[in-house]
Amino acid sequence: MVVGKYWNKKIETMPVEELRKLQLQKLREQVKHCYEDSAFYRRKFDGVGLKPSDIRTLDDLKKIPFTIKSDLKDNYPFGMVAGKTDQIVELHASSGTTGNPIVGSYNKNDMDVWQELVARCIYTVGGRSQDIIHIAYGYGLFTGGLGLHYGAQKIGAKIVPASGGMTQRQIKLMKDLGTTIVACTPSFMVYLAETMMQEGIDPRKDLKLKKGIFGAEPWSDKIRERIEKETGIEAYDIYGLTELCGPGVSVECEEHHGLHVWEDHFIVETINPDTGEVLPPGSEGELVFTTLTKTCMPMLRYRTRDISRIETSKCKCGRTHRRLARITGRSDDMLIIRGVNIFPQQIERVLMSFPQVGRNYVIIIEGLDDMTIKVELAAAGFDGQVEHLAALQNQLIEKLKAETWVRPKVDLLPAGSLPVAEGKAKRVIDKRSL
Ligand SMILES: [Zn+2]
Repeated sequence: MVVGKYWNKKIETMPVEELRKLQLQKLREQVKHCYEDSAFYRRKFDGVGLKPSDIRTLDDLKKIPFTIKSDLKDNYPFGMVAGKTDQIVELHASSGTTGNPIVGSYNKNDMDVWQELVARCIYTVGGRSQDIIHIAYGYGLFTGGLGLHYGAQKIGAKIVPASGGMTQRQIKLMKDLGTTIVACTPSFMVYLAETMMQEGIDPRKDLKLKKGIFGAEPWSDKIRERIEKETGIEAYDIYGLTELCGPGVSVECEEHHGLHVWEDHFIVETINPDTGEVLPPGSEGELVFTTLTKTCMPMLRYRTRDISRIETSKCKCGRTHRRLARITGRSDDMLIIRGVNIFPQQIERVLMSFPQVGRNYVIIIEGLDDMTIKVELAAAGFDGQVEHLAALQNQLIEKLKAETWVRPKVDLLPAGSLPVAEGKAKRVIDKRSL
């Protein structure tokens, strides 16, 4: 029975010691399953002379070799499935820019687990059966649309499966149907807010929208502030990836102080991305996940390439599951410019701290590591005085240089001149590799 603020009070507020015991028990079962039913994991274990019985404590997890993205590509499409492929009831895939896509295979158990996890996330955000949830993540192979859909279904909410695109119609639907929660990428929400403004729709008065569930791309607190300021809604971060199930791995609670990882289903570690060394909680590093309950395509120590840190302090919401600080970058997205590591999110933070600047921008790297940032001005960001524009440009360059240690070129463009992202935004164009 679901009452009060927790979807599953017993699990969500379980004393940490009990939670660790539960994790160990599930880990041992999972390791046994992987060794017995997955040729891939058996090879990995045998390669380092490891037996399932060697995993006696949670600390023994670090004896298990990492699983990496190229393992999934190399074993495309079904080589990572533990057991027979007959068990598969659904498939999803994330687009790789090169080579084989990453395919996620789900059996009946995994679908139930996924639905349960997303339901827990939506409930944590405050979603209830009386809510109308507008899902503007892409439906299809991408896990965002259907993942949120399954979770909302379990809660019993009214679902509007809008998918991506057709922005004006989406806004009309939200208005006419009385949508209370929207789920989409943060960049699409920014675009929705902008379009509402242009259409003369005041989200505070004309819509019943209260909350937004945003994920599938890293975003900064500055974008959050903007979304909240422009629409009056409360923005929540949700995290997941196809390799682990899709959305549902972790989510923010009402404290907005990190994303609770559902530790009865996942073990999270942070490692030094260069050496693979496990870092103590609180240190920033690459996130590594072990799935404890997925059985069709289990992942042991999967390296996500996402950079974050584990927050262990007690959360005021009462949940005992540890939190991830917001993802500061994806190490795949990391740019190396003149020997300096730069994450696009650092640039976004600087840009969004200037109210004169709009939300749409693109980072172009070309030639010998020359970085140009093309950014739109806010609709009311230019007062017609050219000297103000030049001053803004200089301020941006100085602040970007202080943040990234690289002096970029900045092109200020009129609002609406850059292409608009209706799915995941493409923020970086690296012409060096072309
Ligand atoms: Zn919390």
